[in-house]
Amino acid sequence: MRLRNKPGAKEKLLDYPQYVIHEPENKRGNWQQVFNNTNEIHIEVGTGKGRFITEMAKAHPNINYIGIEAYTSVIVSALDRAIEAEVPNLKLLNMNAQKLEEIFANGEVARVYLNFSDPWPKNKHEKRRLTHRNFLQMYENIMKTDGEIHFKTDNQHLFEYSLVSFSEYGLKLKYVSLDLHHSDFEGNIMTEYEERFSSIGKRIFRCEVQLPLVEKA
Ligand code: SAM
Repeated sequence: MRLRNKPGAKEKLLDYPQYVIHEPENKRGNWQQVFNNTNEIHIEVGTGKGRFITEMAKAHPNINYIGIEAYTSVIVSALDRAIEAEVPNLKLLNMNAQKLEEIFANGEVARVYLNFSDPWPKNKHEKRRLTHRNFLQMYENIMKTDGEIHFKTDNQHLFEYSLVSFSEYGLKLKYVSLDLHHSDFEGNIMTEYEERFSSIGKRIFRCEVQLPLVEKA
């Protein structure tokens, strides 16, 4: 159950500017300077309590990771993980992904991770799904030409919807698994939701798609 208001959470985020970037729109076009290197930037949209992004940052020190989460009460747990892990290649943004283009310049991001995104099953909420074409357009606008989206979910309906959405958008399907935990995929890092759903026997779906290799104007 998500806590919408966690006492002291906002203040705690302000106390750790080395991990939580405030007014991130001021960094647009300069994210590599924030990390003080020229490494690729990978973002996770809907990072939740941060297990995936923190473990990825530990496992891949030569990639810069940015976790984006709308709820203060949730991202504060990701901050706790970052503080414990002491990872210089991880930053967190407390914001709604609707504003991604205000935060990142064209071509600034190499990869987008979507893990166990909210399914929004009602048709009237389709536009809120993070794999809706409006979001794909945003990801394309901030990603480099051969950028990739890596998507995991336990929700078969959302997975089917997303494959169609990716295909209609013209993305290239590079990898698909209908049962990740019984596949040959190596190096999987579990998210909090993945742990919870797989422990009750739910299958995990995963795919990787790539932007078309067309030079941007
Ligand atoms: N990725 C985590 C995991 O697998 O454990 C969390 C999954 S949880 C079902 C989805 C998370 O995405 C929630 O914490 C929610 O607040 C966040 N989220 C959904 N839509 C978002 C948006 N438009 N911008 C930022 N965060 C969003």
